[in-house]
Amino acid sequence: KVMNADIVVVGAGGAGLAAAVSANQKGATVIVLEKMPQVGGNTIISGAAYNAVDPSRQKPAGIEDSIEKHYTQTYEGGDELGNPVLIHTMVENAYPTLQWLESLGMEFKGQIFTVLGGLWPRAHKPVKPLGTGYIETYMNYIKQHDGITLLTDTRAVDLYKEDGRVSVVKATGPDATIVAQGHKAVILATGGFGANIELRDTYNKIWPALTNIKTTNHPGATGDGLALAEKVGADLVGMEYIQLLPMGDPNTGSLSGNIELGVENRIFVNKDGKRFVDEGARRDVMTKALFDQEDAFMWVILDGHCYPTTDIKNNFNETMQELLDQGRAYKADNLEELADEIGVDADNLKASVAEFNKAVEAGGPDAFGRTLFADKIDQPPYYAGARKPTVHHTMGGIKINEKAQVIDKDGNVIPGLYAAGETTGGIHGSNRLGGNALVDINVFGKIAGENAAAESN
Ligand code: ADP
Repeated sequence: KVMNADIVVVGAGGAGLAAAVSANQKGATVIVLEKMPQVGGNTIISGAAYNAVDPSRQKPAGIEDSIEKHYTQTYEGGDELGNPVLIHTMVENAYPTLQWLESLGMEFKGQIFTVLGGLWPRAHKPVKPLGTGYIETYMNYIKQHDGITLLTDTRAVDLYKEDGRVSVVKATGPDATIVAQGHKAVILATGGFGANIELRDTYNKIWPALTNIKTTNHPGATGDGLALAEKVGADLVGMEYIQLLPMGDPNTGSLSGNIELGVENRIFVNKDGKRFVDEGARRDVMTKALFDQEDAFMWVILDGHCYPTTDIKNNFNETMQELLDQGRAYKADNLEELADEIGVDADNLKASVAEFNKAVEAGGPDAFGRTLFADKIDQPPYYAGARKPTVHHTMGGIKINEKAQVIDKDGNVIPGLYAAGETTGGIHGSNRLGGNALVDINVFGKIAGENAAAESN
């Protein structure tokens, strides 16, 4: 079956849907191909934190911030390996793109928080749970406007040039092969490869063997866009930089069950009840430290400041009571009993908390270099939740420029080809800050859609 439009988008996660919507707003017709039975990809199951310098929300909370600080933390947090031009594009467009999402009907809460590995309180939390707010916002737009055709269960398997431009995507649908022609452009938004164990093993140079490490990712995160892009000459960058979180469910690797609500109010202890890292550090730093602990296993410890009542939800839409009932979190009236319940040395746990509380009073930095604090851990009840390392994000991928055009191995733009979101590389360097993925995919998805729509055909 042959289909025609101005633009073909491959992948209906956050980046692909942002691209489809922004291209449509610029008057382009769009075909979106999604291999899974449903849209949303990793975006819809993500913690959904969105970093943006936003005086309207940060100022009332007394939070100092600047776009330059967001830039510097992103660049240095990735060991200065990210492309400065792309990082500038991302941080400068973070707030305008958040406002664009709001103009499409998306709602963010008023309160700003520090997300794990985000290094600073600039994360916005959507009102809707997890990443559903982003996907519903884009899907509502698609339903209410003509010109965007979305095919699920339809997997892109090949990419072709015509007259020197990338314009044809071959895909396998439920009952036919589809040849989708994008007369202006093709946009790859296929996400990362965190669920592709073989590719992970091929590129991993930094971590211990990842073969048996679980992932937070949806099963479709297999890096399909990389081979498609390479076939037409694209360059790949930073492929060895794979992000792990210290926050996986020990059984599934998923983020669900994570009891932390923000960075400031919790500590991590190992099986001995001892702290081992700055819990406000970069994600790679925390995960490396966790690999050095017995069984690469830790407990998140927090208190009644976070959960004065057990009907409060974590960032993954689960109430504390549900987690307690499922045996995925533990609760006690004092630290002695909590230590008993989780089988760690009570004296060690009490000493860890006492030392932490002293640092909160002093304002840090503490012995681990931690500087992000709010309340002491001193308000019953006390809670614990188990966590292990889990593969979360792949920083590497298709090389793009600030217009989201794909760059070939000689450094030239590949005519007609754009890419956005986790399938791209070169923005986050060796380590992505928490809260920057949703910015990346929405900012560059929007940019890709706008620029693709502006191509002449
Ligand atoms: P991002 O955050 O970059 O948007 P997501 O993981 O949210 O990434 O979305 C990527 C989407 O692309 C997923 O829904 C995934 O199923 C889809 N996808 C991946 N490979 C293909 C492919 N070959 N054909 C069509 N869709 C694909």
